Amino acid sequence: MATKIGVLAVQGDFSKHIEAYESAGVPAHALREVRTVDDLTEVDRLTIPGGESSTVGLLLERYGLGPAIIERAASGMPVWGTCMGMILMASEVEDRDQYRLGLLDITVRRNAFGAQVHSFEDEVAVAGLDQPVMGVFIRAPIVTRVGAGVEVLSTYDEKVVGVRSGSCLGTSFHPELTSDTRLHQWFLTF
Ligand code: GLN
Repeated sequence: MATKIGVLAVQGDFSKHIEAYESAGVPAHALREVRTVDDLTEVDRLTIPGGESSTVGLLLERYGLGPAIIERAASGMPVWGTCMGMILMASEVEDRDQYRLGLLDITVRRNAFGAQVHSFEDEVAVAGLDQPVMGVFIRAPIVTRVGAGVEVLSTYDEKVVGVRSGSCLGTSFHPELTSDTRLHQWFLTF
């Protein structure tokens, strides 16, 4: 089975992640949009893009893709979620009973910086990278509880916006919307 990088393509800015991996030098044949349980069997790591977490959560639950992702992650498949992706990977969402994958032992607060008009960009340091990245925050979540074994990678304005637990990575911001592919390259080493 060929090694492939999967990008969850149910809804959201998945095409931007595909483009970012291509810019990072990954050939198109090694990239796969994941929409079904069958698609998932062909990838060895998964990126979950930005989008609308309540909608995508419902779809993951309804079509069995959520449980399949949980099973693969439990057997070591690296997973990276950006914004919506991090919300879906959390074990708890503040004030909402929405579908979660529970891959990161964190609590998240959705839309924590305000409404769409409050979307912004600013430099964010990421533990492990020499230079900061440009963080694009769009109705972004923050992490309000970090469980045991979860490493904080980034904070912004004293709020946690990047975490890692084993081979699972979560960022509140969207590196796929910049031309900087360092985080995509780093995730490929997980
Ligand atoms: N606010 C969205 C949510 O709660 C996430 C936004 C995004 O992914 N840019 O699902």
